[in-house]
Amino acid sequence: MARQVTSQRRAAIVTGAASGIGAAITSRLADGGFDVLAVDLRPGEGGAGLPFAADLSTREGNRSAVDAALENFGRIDVVVPNAGFQHVSPVVDFDEDRWDALLAVLLTSPFLLAKYSWPHLVASGQGRFVAIASAHALVASPFKAGYVSAKHGVMGLIKTLALEGADVGVSATAVCPSYVRTPLVEKQIQAQAVAHGLPEDRVLEDVILASQPVKRLVEPVEVAELVAFLVGPYGRAMTGVAVPMDQAWTAR
Ligand code: NAD
Repeated sequence: MARQVTSQRRAAIVTGAASGIGAAITSRLADGGFDVLAVDLRPGEGGAGLPFAADLSTREGNRSAVDAALENFGRIDVVVPNAGFQHVSPVVDFDEDRWDALLAVLLTSPFLLAKYSWPHLVASGQGRFVAIASAHALVASPFKAGYVSAKHGVMGLIKTLALEGADVGVSATAVCPSYVRTPLVEKQIQAQAVAHGLPEDRVLEDVILASQPVKRLVEPVEVAELVAFLVGPYGRAMTGVAVPMDQAWTAR
């Protein structure tokens, strides 16, 4: 049963909020007048949102995040599932526990957040579900079976939510960036430099950005601005779709 909406300020849940893209989205939504529950394993201190610790690989973690948003803000208008990590390995060696963990955080957490917050997104009258997917929701790269599979699954979830939300005022989109300058990518630069015996600046152009015609990392703030548009008054018609910001990666 949806609780009554008690505040005039809109409220958002952002996951993976302690780092990278999630931190930028949290700041941007807070600057835009949202109350933001900033969920992470070890939430950052002094950030723009209300820090909340949860392990989103569990059902209890996702349930506790939704409950905390309701307790603190009395409403949920926006959910941004963003938490994630990467695991790089050939399929033949792909660790099965890492597969389970990737699916839990990247795909099952968005599903659980949608399920638990749905009545409140409906009660909002302007509910927005904006998953941070990836260009890897649309195309694949070798050695990323878990990540690519989970992100493709997120596209299926978004399309389903958009259809179920159409008559009840809830929209659902998947933001699909190419590589963004965050710790998740910086760790890969160091690892690939060692693996390929290349300097880090060569790794960026020759390995990481090889699929992207535009040889530049997206900045987290660019993703945050797109999310702000999607949850704002002019983002309403965007639903059931991938929203790529992939520097022509998927144009090939
Ligand atoms: P990041 O590593 O900087 O931040 C990810 C955050 O998620 C971390 O703070 C981490 O603690 C949190 N997290 C991971 N597992 C969690 C769990 N079980 N419970 C709670 N929190 C958990 O990464 P980022 O680059 O900012 O990535 C954010 C999202 O953007 C991810 O879904 C990623 O797949 C997606 N993405 C990133 C890029 C990129 O190039 N950086 C590109 C496309 C999509």
